[in-house]
Amino acid sequence: EMQESLKQEIEKREVTEQILAQRNTLLNSILNASQDPIGLYNEHGVYVGCNEPFAKVLGFSAKELIGKTARNVIDPEMLQEFYQTDIKVLRDGLTVKTDAYVILETGEPVWYEIVKSPYRDPTDGSAGVLLIARDVTERKQAEQQLADAIMELQELSFVDSLTKVANRRSFDEQLRKLWHSHMREQQPLTLILCDIDSFKAYNDNYGHQQGDNALQEVAQVFDSVIRRETDEVARYGGEEFAFLLPNTPLAGGQTVAGKIHNKLAEKAIPHGFSDISDLLTVSLGVATMTPMPNQDYGELIAMADKALYKAKADGRNTTRLMAESDEF
Ligand code: GH3
Ligand code: MG
Ligand code: MG
Repeated sequence: EMQESLKQEIEKREVTEQILAQRNTLLNSILNASQDPIGLYNEHGVYVGCNEPFAKVLGFSAKELIGKTARNVIDPEMLQEFYQTDIKVLRDGLTVKTDAYVILETGEPVWYEIVKSPYRDPTDGSAGVLLIARDVTERKQAEQQLADAIMELQELSFVDSLTKVANRRSFDEQLRKLWHSHMREQQPLTLILCDIDSFKAYNDNYGHQQGDNALQEVAQVFDSVIRRETDEVARYGGEEFAFLLPNTPLAGGQTVAGKIHNKLAEKAIPHGFSDISDLLTVSLGVATMTPMPNQDYGELIAMADKALYKAKADGRNTTRLMAESDEF
């Protein structure tokens, strides 16, 4: 009876070993067939399995790498980054996707898209990470080229992509044209420079996305202030706008500036982190010049800039004017 049961035990074991060997072969076939780096490491960061592409990224052969610990083969900065996602996989049992930028031994830079999944060692129940990486360098490069091309196109076009008002390039060109026509006709040209008050605090507290939304709203308000067809508002810089008012004396500029403040107050965009108001406000600098041949439009910008500076210094949410005869 004992012999019989021993025989059965041995047979069972043989079957199990066969299955195990089969599994092992399967696993190795998959690992070796993949061009993508695949590796497994346990919760202590010890590599327990990998294919050659995986080992190669770390500068080893698979045989050399297995048994080594991550912190001894990966540079500390990278390790820190890796650890952030490892912890999610190990602790929360999540599958995590990340991108990694790696410089290979050869000096070649590679972008990997990495998927990390949890696995559990059936013998002792300990957790580990299965990492599968895919080389996405070509895709990343294509994306970068596309982004560059879009940027170039935007610069070439005349509309600010965020606010849809004229962009800086358009403003510069318009100012140059107006300067010359106003010189010929000896007409006053007015420029209003506008800077949103405490906008850094707005961004820092509400976030960049809401900051962008506010810029869009402000631009809409400005667009509604501009009544004459020849007037133009442009996004001059980050949170700065410029109004060009042809054939307009300083008093006209002052009127428009008043409307800007009023319309913005009507729009009532909350700003809980401004020192001067609980609404979003702007400071305005207005300057007027009737251009003379010995002058250039840089002087008009400089004057409006000085006036704006004064509006800021005088407490913000206000307008300061500057005519050619004024001295600061
Ligand atoms: P001041 O009243 O003196 O003008 O203070 P300020 O905080 O507005 O001035 P500062 O120049 O220090 O900050 C401008 C801030 O505007 C910096 C940045 O946070 C924000 N900003 C500039 N451009 C953009 C943009 O395109 N989008 C967003 N969301 N924020 C921007
Ligand atoms: Mg500014
Ligand atoms: Mg500002």
